[in-house]
Amino acid sequence: MLSAYISHPDCLKHDMGPGHPECPERLEAISDMLLLKGYRDFMLPYDAPLANEEQLQRAHSALYVSRVLNQAPADGYVRLDPDTLMNPFTLPAALRSAGAAVLATDLVLQGEVRTAFCNIRPPGHHAERDACMGFCFFNNVAVGIRHALDVHGLERVALIDFDVHHGNGSADILAGDERVLMCSIFEKGLYPLNGDEHPGGSNMVHVGMNSRTGSSEFRALVDAAWMPALDAFRPQLIYISAGFDAHRDDDMGNLGLVDADYEWVTQRLLDVARRHAQGRIISCLEGGYVMSPLARSAAAHVKVLIGAD
Ligand SMILES: [Zn+2]
Repeated sequence: MLSAYISHPDCLKHDMGPGHPECPERLEAISDMLLLKGYRDFMLPYDAPLANEEQLQRAHSALYVSRVLNQAPADGYVRLDPDTLMNPFTLPAALRSAGAAVLATDLVLQGEVRTAFCNIRPPGHHAERDACMGFCFFNNVAVGIRHALDVHGLERVALIDFDVHHGNGSADILAGDERVLMCSIFEKGLYPLNGDEHPGGSNMVHVGMNSRTGSSEFRALVDAAWMPALDAFRPQLIYISAGFDAHRDDDMGNLGLVDADYEWVTQRLLDVARRHAQGRIISCLEGGYVMSPLARSAAAHVKVLIGAD
C-alpha cells in the first residue's frame, strides 16, 4: 500500500520576513530530497484542503479561531507573538496545514493509505488552545487527533513529538484527554522553557534532555520512557510531530542527533504501530531550520514510513 504525501503551494506563500528561520525553502528542500531519493514514487500526492472552523474548534477555542481568522493583513505583516507574524498569505497556509492533518486522518482511517507525511508549514506544536506561539498558528496534529477521536470514533490515539523544542501547545490542548497518550522528548533550557513544569497529566510522558547528550542517550530514553507507555496504551493510530531541529547540524538545538536517529526512531514507532495500530502513522512537519540536515532527516523518516508494508 502506498503512503500519502500531503502539501499545498499555499504553504510556500506564508512568509514572516527576511531572515526568519521558518521559511518557505524548508518545504522545497524536503520535497526535492524525497524526489531525488525516489521516495515520492511510493507516495500518492494530495493537495491539503482548508480546515474549517468546526475542525479547528476541536483543538482551539472559538474566540481564538476567530481572532486568527480576522487578523490577516491586506499587505505587510501583523505580529501575533514575538516570533510569529502573518502576511497576506498566512491564513490559507495555516488552514491548509491543519487541513492536511484532517485529510491524512481520513485517508488513513478509510484505508486509502497506511501512512501519511504532511510536508506543511506553518508548523503547529507550540500553538495552544488560546494562543499562537513560536511560528505556530493552529495546532495541526491536535486538530487531526480530535478529528480521529470525535469524527471517526477512535478510542486511543498516540502523539509522539521528537522536535528539539517542547510541544507545549499539544500538551496544553491534549492534557487530561485520556483518549490520547502524548510522548515527547525535548532539550531542556530551550524555548518555550516550560517543558519540565508543564502540568501535563497522566496522559503525558515528557522527557527533558540536557544539551549535548547525543544519539545513544536519545535512543535509550525512547526505549525506557516511550515504549512501555505506548505498549500499555495500545494506540489505534499514531501521530508524529516531526521536528528535525535536534539534528547536530541544526543550530536551533544542541542534542546532537544524526540522520540515522530519525530513521531509527521512526522504525521504533512503526514497530509499535504494527503491534497495535495496523501500521497506521500520520506525520506532520514541525521544526528543522537548516536545509541540508532537514531534508536528509525528513528523508530518513519518510523512508521508513513508505516501507510500512
Ligand atoms: Zn523546534
